[in-house]
Amino acid sequence: MLHIVYDDGYNVESLGPVGSRYKVTLEHLKTVIPPEILQVHTPAEFAVSASHTAEYLETLKDPETFKSIFELAFFPTADELTDIERAQRLQYCGTLTAADLALQHGFAVNLGGGLHHASRKAGSGFCLFNDITAVVDRLLETGKAKRILIIDLDAHQGNGYEEDLWEHCQAGQVCIFDAYQPMIFPFPEGELVKQSIHYYIPYIPEDRGDCFIDSLLKGINKPFEEFYPDFVIYNAGTDTMEGDPVTKLGQTAEAIKDRDLVVIETCRRAKVSVMMCMSGGYGEDVPHVFAESLVNIVGIGSGGKI
Ligand SMILES: [Zn+2]
Repeated sequence: MLHIVYDDGYNVESLGPVGSRYKVTLEHLKTVIPPEILQVHTPAEFAVSASHTAEYLETLKDPETFKSIFELAFFPTADELTDIERAQRLQYCGTLTAADLALQHGFAVNLGGGLHHASRKAGSGFCLFNDITAVVDRLLETGKAKRILIIDLDAHQGNGYEEDLWEHCQAGQVCIFDAYQPMIFPFPEGELVKQSIHYYIPYIPEDRGDCFIDSLLKGINKPFEEFYPDFVIYNAGTDTMEGDPVTKLGQTAEAIKDRDLVVIETCRRAKVSVMMCMSGGYGEDVPHVFAESLVNIVGIGSGGKI
């Protein structure tokens, strides 16, 4: 069974293909995965105030705040800002819902979320709400997990939760494995929070994926052998793929599928529940590659792995 969290409200149609990639991903999944295997859940309700300061949420009443968060990519209209805020609130709830489903079933996916540049005090880099921090807070507070490993393979550094979770990292409750291209956003600000990172792999622009998969295979077992996680958050950004207009990295679609399978199989072997979220990815093929990667994980056509 593949447990997916999704809501039509994740999409902001006026932003074009990037804003509709969640819907297209689900449509692709539905064409390949039989309905008795694909279970789609809607996000439960959670308040973003659980993981943000009241001061930051107050600033979201001012459109100028949004502009500074989105200026790297584009300048949204007032209507688009309202739609983006609504969509990202839903995706935040979706990540928390997927974490609960992963605890129940071993594996669940939010077809959205992974808003890893947002911190408790600020939005940043197109991310308004810190869903990854929120999952860590909630699992630790409820005692549902005690040692959480974050594996972040999006092309960008996860500076938001790295800022938020420094004390948890120091206390041995959180371990961060982050691969990113060091010379793009959030450089140089990201340098200030990289002391939270335990394991790091740099992305190399000319690499088609072979070099990265080699590094991943060499490094992925270390946090399992040294930290002993009881829950994994996998931030599976596909903006590392060739043709991505934002990062200019060169991984092939096959490399994306290989890396996702390496991560999920490693969690399975360690018998640790894993929640995967979609995060970045701005090329035209992203919804199809992400969907095909999930098909590969489920094992459709190869006997079924879930
Ligand atoms: Zn990214």
